[in-house]
Amino acid sequence: MAKAPAPNPWTKPRGEPIKGKAIPRPSRTADVQSYIPAFLKGMSLTMKHFFKNTKETMLGQTPDPVLESLSEGVTTINYPEVKRPYPDRFRGLHRLTLRQDDSPRCVACLCCSTACPAQCIHIVAGEYPEGDARRGYERYPTSFVIDELRCIFCGFCVEACPCDAIRMDTGMHATAYDSREQFIYKRELLMSFTGRDGSRESANPRHEPGDLTHPGVTREHMSH
Ligand code: SF4
Ligand code: SF4
Repeated sequence: MAKAPAPNPWTKPRGEPIKGKAIPRPSRTADVQSYIPAFLKGMSLTMKHFFKNTKETMLGQTPDPVLESLSEGVTTINYPEVKRPYPDRFRGLHRLTLRQDDSPRCVACLCCSTACPAQCIHIVAGEYPEGDARRGYERYPTSFVIDELRCIFCGFCVEACPCDAIRMDTGMHATAYDSREQFIYKRELLMSFTGRDGSRESANPRHEPGDLTHPGVTREHMSH
């Protein structure tokens, strides 16, 4: 015989009275109902700032809205004529760094796409051709795509990259496009961006296999 299901403690059994604690309604006095005290309080605060800002502007005491943004006073800026400088660690749009020969520094290890919580990086890895010193040691991205609309700009991809191949130091905002496709950034576009300092190359140089600086195995090691 089938076992009766256990009662659900989160629902009221059929037919039983509803149990609960009655919460009294707040008293609605005439001054609360009229909103006049709250209105006057808000207006007094607004007028206080208005006269203070007007006085500071006329006396030339207005704090610099960029450099003194946290101080009291007028803290607005005339955007877009005036732009607020971003901190050095501001995460702008991504870029892919380059090697000295202008090829991507990326070795298509997929660490960034694995770390990405939004799953907005898609990489297709390829092998270097016969004769290339990198063949057999590294791969490269034949396709590297970031969906900037899904990105949450967490920076995990930059943290995960072992090659300094992906950065978010362009200092650029996402542009206001009018179609979704335009937010799909492909490899060539990502490689065309520079850092705010104009840099393009990776700070993690490639060590060629066989070089004394190469930390890994050599081809001679591989043959044994
Ligand atoms: S910043 Fe975060 S969400 Fe955006 S691509 Fe990198 S890991 Fe993904
Ligand atoms: S960008 Fe960095 S983490 Fe991402 S696949 Fe390339 S080398 Fe790996």
